Amino acid sequence: MKKNIAIIGSGFSSLSAACYLAKAGHNVTIYEKNDALGGRARQFKAAGFTFDMGPSWYWMPDVFDKFFNDFGKKVSDYFTLTKLSPAYRVYFGKDDFIDIEDTPEKICKKFESIEKGSGEKLKKYLKIAKENYEIGVTDMLYKMPGNSPLELVSKKTIKRVRFFLSNIRKDIRRDFKNPKLRSILEFPVLFLGAKASNTPAFYNFMNYADFGIGTFQPPNGFHDLVNAMVDLGKSLGVKYKVNHELSKINVSNKKVENIVINGKSTDCDLILSGADYHHTESLLPVKSRQYNNRYWKSRVFAPSSLLFYVGFNKKLKNVQHHNLIFDTDFNKHAEEIYDSPKWPTDPLFYANFTSKTNSKTAPEGSENAFFLIPIAIDLIDNEETRDKYFEKIIKKMELYTGQELKDSITYKRSFCVNDFKNEYNSYGGNAYGLANTLFQTAFLRPNIKSKLVQNLYFCGQLTVPGPGVPPAVVSGELVANLINK
Ligand SMILES: Cc1cc2nc3c(=O)[nH]c(=O)nc-3n(C[C@H](O)[C@H](O)[C@H](O)COP(=O)(O)OP(=O)(O)OC[C@H]3O[C@@H](n4cnc5c(N)ncnc54)[C@H](O)[C@@H]3O)c2cc1C
Repeated sequence: MKKNIAIIGSGFSSLSAACYLAKAGHNVTIYEKNDALGGRARQFKAAGFTFDMGPSWYWMPDVFDKFFNDFGKKVSDYFTLTKLSPAYRVYFGKDDFIDIEDTPEKICKKFESIEKGSGEKLKKYLKIAKENYEIGVTDMLYKMPGNSPLELVSKKTIKRVRFFLSNIRKDIRRDFKNPKLRSILEFPVLFLGAKASNTPAFYNFMNYADFGIGTFQPPNGFHDLVNAMVDLGKSLGVKYKVNHELSKINVSNKKVENIVINGKSTDCDLILSGADYHHTESLLPVKSRQYNNRYWKSRVFAPSSLLFYVGFNKKLKNVQHHNLIFDTDFNKHAEEIYDSPKWPTDPLFYANFTSKTNSKTAPEGSENAFFLIPIAIDLIDNEETRDKYFEKIIKKMELYTGQELKDSITYKRSFCVNDFKNEYNSYGGNAYGLANTLFQTAFLRPNIKSKLVQNLYFCGQLTVPGPGVPPAVVSGELVANLINK
């Protein structure tokens, strides 16, 4: 039966769910509190620069292909992807870096040149990672979680049980001795939001996503994907309303009676929230909330981030599109995110220069930069601290890339814990939702359908399958399938 469905938030999970629900014949409206669509993947323009505010690594293109194919479309109907070559650069110090090339063969060769025997080991490691990717994506990612661990057991997964009993760090350390190679292999775990020592070895499929499939780039940045999904949604009849904030969900007889948007009561048959899960439940009467504060406090959240969007009035040398600055102890920084949360003593960070591959994102002769330091959630956030860290990373970039940067800055905006809270209603100011640890996987994540309110559903990075753009797109499909049932 055709329903009036209100979707809260315009992140990738909401954009995806809206398309599936509209295709099934429902009347779908997306309500977004901010003035632009895309959620954490919004884009903004300032001083001639264009900045993607969140995601920048276009990995697992097969997930996006599947999404558009479900509507008889192709990614190439909307934009043309380029495979980055090299995919990215990892700096370990001054004049000390490794470029990760665009094929597994080239990467194995690079490994071999750094540690004897590691090329062959990497080949074997990637073969297993590929098998895990195929199982992880085809059999697990798209599987609707129920209530029991047994549902994850299949002929294929039972044979791979050892990967759930070991962690990714142990496996990497067993095979690779060189600390630089180890940190490169541990890097994709950052997307899962947990420490490598706390992430099942099965997730080595992210190494296959990285080395085996590669890093892609849409022509105008990640926001091309947002625009493509919105265009598709419009063609299916989805309505999009920005500057529309949900402030209350009224419940009667265990059903949503109406919702309050911009202070006005709005009727709907069903509400699907892609806003942060904790925030959505805080808008319900207390007795309709499934999870209390103790529950949320006990969860492992993916990190928050200190971000800088920066414009330089010159072209920079010695940097690639994606750059990781891994000159410091990965473990110590991870401990300062998860175990004893505090501002990192010596942070590793990520530097992205989109104008290296897309000149349109910066004025002629200028460079567009995005810097990201992962940090613990809920840290005390003020301008003084932000400035201190900015100084630190600019100094390092100047030293490692051998050029003056500070006096070439023409634009700068920072974004941190307080902004994640204010702009996205994010729990603790998390950037990537709830981490994918063994005990926060599948049916152990917050429910996609409320157990206490019949016509209330959830999608996004705090529910299944987990953090990251590909899982968010899948989350939208899973919840739409459940609603359509
Ligand atoms: C800095 C950063 C870098 C990242 N890098 C990558 C990357 O390179 N690759 C990758 O795959 N993933 C990356 N991620 C993760 C990825 O962006 C997210 O996992 C994904 O975009 C989350 O989508 P979502 O559907 O859960 O919703 P979100 O994007 O979180 O959107 C939720 C929306 O709900 C809105 N909202 C909240 N409350 C209300 C309300 N009361 N009323 C109306 N609207 C409301 C918010 O404004 C927001 O727009 C990154 C994230 C960040 C923050």
